[in-house]
Amino acid sequence: MRMLEVLIVGGGVMGAATAYALARRGRRVLLLEQFALGHARGSSHGLSRLFSYAYPQAIYTQLAVAARQAWATLEADARQRLLINTGALDIAQTDLSYIRSCVTQLTAAGVPFEQLPANELRSRFPALAVTDQTVGLYQPDGGILPASRCVATLIEQARRYGAVVATGVRVDRLLPDGSGVRVDAAGATYRAQRVVITAGSYTPVLLRQLGLSFPLLITREQSVFFLPRHRVLSKIGYLPVVRDHGHGNGEPLLVCYPDMGEGVKAELVGTGVVVRDPYVPPPLPDPVESERIARRLEATLPGFATRLLRAETCRMTHTPTGDFLIDRHPEYSQIVLAVPCSGHGFTFAPLIGEILADLAVQGTTQHDITPFRLGHLRTSRVLT
Ligand SMILES: Cc1cc2nc3c(=O)[nH]c(=O)nc-3n(C[C@H](O)[C@H](O)[C@H](O)COP(=O)(O)OP(=O)(O)OC[C@H]3O[C@@H](n4cnc5c(N)ncnc54)[C@H](O)[C@@H]3O)c2cc1C
Repeated sequence: MRMLEVLIVGGGVMGAATAYALARRGRRVLLLEQFALGHARGSSHGLSRLFSYAYPQAIYTQLAVAARQAWATLEADARQRLLINTGALDIAQTDLSYIRSCVTQLTAAGVPFEQLPANELRSRFPALAVTDQTVGLYQPDGGILPASRCVATLIEQARRYGAVVATGVRVDRLLPDGSGVRVDAAGATYRAQRVVITAGSYTPVLLRQLGLSFPLLITREQSVFFLPRHRVLSKIGYLPVVRDHGHGNGEPLLVCYPDMGEGVKAELVGTGVVVRDPYVPPPLPDPVESERIARRLEATLPGFATRLLRAETCRMTHTPTGDFLIDRHPEYSQIVLAVPCSGHGFTFAPLIGEILADLAVQGTTQHDITPFRLGHLRTSRVLT
């Protein structure tokens, strides 16, 4: 049996980015994905994810700046643009401390932004419902990552640098053994010096095997596509990605994307259905949830959507604080774990791939991942 340098479990965006980072460094890497690439039972498929620098915590804004560089490296390698520069607009129906904290972090990181009062919002984005209390934060460099295309590009480039990617191969068992790991997958056995687990919503199954208990909540979220009334006004160039935080009193965040050819996409964050067993297919899109999204969209962009076109689902894996989990296994340091989900991981994917490659090869990384370590997450307060 040949000893692999690194075996990656999972071919969503994080596994693909790790394979790309390692292969680019000349490492011998095998990625095993249990389903087909681009499948819909994970978190990385679909037309769009928001790329935003606006976070109330310094670490995420700083990492987003580094992630933009990492996307640019991939774009140069692949000779294609991935990030679509639509601009990103956060609005709130009252002056929220969340927005003020984002302003502080964007200023500190030197990221361009504009604070837009109600009159500016009305003249720049006439489709929006704006009251005199509405405040806006606009990032001209925010945009959309075409999710499935990004994953396909990462895999393509990883393969070009020599990574082997196998699909339809489920990792059944990980057995740490000496300084390496024995991996049983679909009737075959592999040996690897290092294993990186990027298994998304399936992570708890593998963690249990490795004697690690960590509270991860899996939810099934829903996105809905609507036929826009204003064909032109709904297009990129007219409509940025809009995040409506409402009054900040616990109502879910609405995220609305411009029409990229399949209608205007809208989703509510934090309204997902809990998934207890990742291998039991969660229910199909819920028409009641679609209606709820339609109502919220109507409140933010009145008269904008005419007809519901389709709904799709996606899994989110949440840590208790909403922060990423990125660390080596506390007992088996040859195993690296990554759960960079909680609904905002895509932005950082190629950077996280670099960090996971660092951890797998060197055991450390120059990037500050202190808040994402197991020990830190276990003692952190849940932020509200
Ligand atoms: C509705 C929704 C909206 C989002 N919006 C944004 C956004 O706007 N901006 C943003 O930055 N992020 C966003 N995210 C988050 C982002 O999409 C995720 O952070 C990211 O896709 C997670 O990727 P992953 O590779 O960790 O997980 P996944 O994509 O789920 O990949 C894990 C893979 O591992 C495979 N696997 C698991 N177990 C095994 C096994 N035993 N053997 C072999 N293969 C295995 C699975 O089949 C799967 O393909 C959103 C997520 C959702 C659901």
